[in-house]
Amino acid sequence: MTDMIIEKARKEGRTMLTEIEAKQLLESAGISVVDTRLATSKEQAVAIAKEIGLPVVMKIASADVVHKSDAGGVKLGLKTAAQVGKAYDDIMKSIKAAFPNAKIEGVSVQTMARPGVEVIIGMSKDAQFGPVLMFGLGGVLVEILKDVAFRIVPLVKRDAKEMIREIKGFPLLQGYRGSEPVDVDNLESMLLKVSEFVDKTPAIKELDLNPIFAYKDGAVAVDARVILENA
Ligand code: ADP
Ligand code: MG
Repeated sequence: MTDMIIEKARKEGRTMLTEIEAKQLLESAGISVVDTRLATSKEQAVAIAKEIGLPVVMKIASADVVHKSDAGGVKLGLKTAAQVGKAYDDIMKSIKAAFPNAKIEGVSVQTMARPGVEVIIGMSKDAQFGPVLMFGLGGVLVEILKDVAFRIVPLVKRDAKEMIREIKGFPLLQGYRGSEPVDVDNLESMLLKVSEFVDKTPAIKELDLNPIFAYKDGAVAVDARVILENA
């Protein structure tokens, strides 16, 4: 599965995977992702939405669009077939305006995940240390405060435990003002699975699960980005 997806991208001369491809890789590595399927027409989008159950999220499916929401390529909380149909057209229109030369695969239709605490797992390669994993809390905490922890791949259990606990935002994961604590054990095992996956897949240059929704029972990645090494 992993090899097939990587080979397909390489044949097409791209190092960026689509979100759908990235999620397929992760899923095959045992990492929890939301059900995400490709629609290549409005009718198909509606059929998929009915199959996976409304409400759904729809996003542009293109390896040429890295920041999907910036370009009007993400629609959340679509509750009816009419909304799904309209979202398909709106997404296509926005992307064609913003990126006239983008190769568009279609639109992904995904389960709308229930809200959780947003966290991020990332992998990048250091010239000295090779693959390094990053963990942080989503949104402004990562973007502005850079509240993140790093460990060199492969991680051992203790690394995963420590990196979650050393971020300043850790209390947010333990529950605050009556909110429920999240399942930290599950995040640890997710970190270990990502570590194992990137360790055995050297073709991956960069990986971003941003965001992952963490719950009191489990966690699920709702967006994924994978960049390959040059062949
Ligand atoms: P971008 O390419 O802009 O990073 P994302 O796929 O991360 O696009 O979507 C933007 C935001 O929409 C996410 O940060 C998340 O809050 C929300 N989101 C995306 N996918 C889902 C989903 N399947 N269920 C619920 N919320 C989602
Ligand atoms: Mg994202």
